[in-house]
Amino acid sequence: MAQKLVIIGNGMAPGRMLEELFDRAPGLYEVTIFNAEPRVNYDRIMLSPVLSGEKTYEDIIIHGDDWYEARGVTLHRGAKVSKIDREAKTVTAENGITASYDRLVIATGSSPFIIPVPGHDLPGVLAYRDLDDVDRMLKIAEGQGHAVVIGGGLWALKRPMG
Ligand SMILES: Cc1cc2nc3c(=O)[nH]c(=O)nc-3n(C[C@H](O)[C@H](O)[C@H](O)COP(=O)(O)OP(=O)(O)OC[C@H]3O[C@@H](n4cnc5c(N)ncnc54)[C@H](O)[C@@H]3O)c2cc1C
Repeated sequence: MAQKLVIIGNGMAPGRMLEELFDRAPGLYEVTIFNAEPRVNYDRIMLSPVLSGEKTYEDIIIHGDDWYEARGVTLHRGAKVSKIDREAKTVTAENGITASYDRLVIATGSSPFIIPVPGHDLPGVLAYRDLDDVDRMLKIAEGQGHAVVIGGGLWALKRPMG
């Protein structure tokens, strides 16, 4: 009988890991994924072209619904895991969904750091990490006005890729 593999997070790392796993050991695991984001796996690196309007979310999807279905993967979207019980070998999401595991992968990526200056929590102060951030930036841009970018790293300065 297949072992139960539970993955917390559905970003770039577990997406690639699963491709490799299904290639090397098809049928070894029954896979369940919990994703805090309400969507499938997409190419985060291509968010800048989505922001610039050169691409859409659909263009940057890596694994669509059919990919999960064909491999028997259960994907819980919008399900943020808030509890891991290592003795019972279960994980539970904020929405109450629980799954038991034989093996657990925690692939929750990183959280963007916003400098703790006064006003850092005002509406309109955003990080740039996922599709929701892109949607928020586009919404705010509809109102025009000035935008200030704090941080001069690659994503702040980069011209969107084609
Ligand atoms: C705009 C942009 C451009 C980038 N361009 C490049 C590039 O050109 N080259 C490069 O090498 N890297 C680039 N990066 C960085 C790259 O995207 C990350 O290094 C990579 O996505 C990390 O993959 P990951 O799977 O570890 O985490 P992520 O892709 O961040 O995925 C983590 C996932 O876990 C979910 N999650 C978090 N907590 C929980 C929880 N408690 N329960 C359930 N789910 C949870 C999150 O919602 C998220 O979907 C870019 C990043 C951004 C934002």
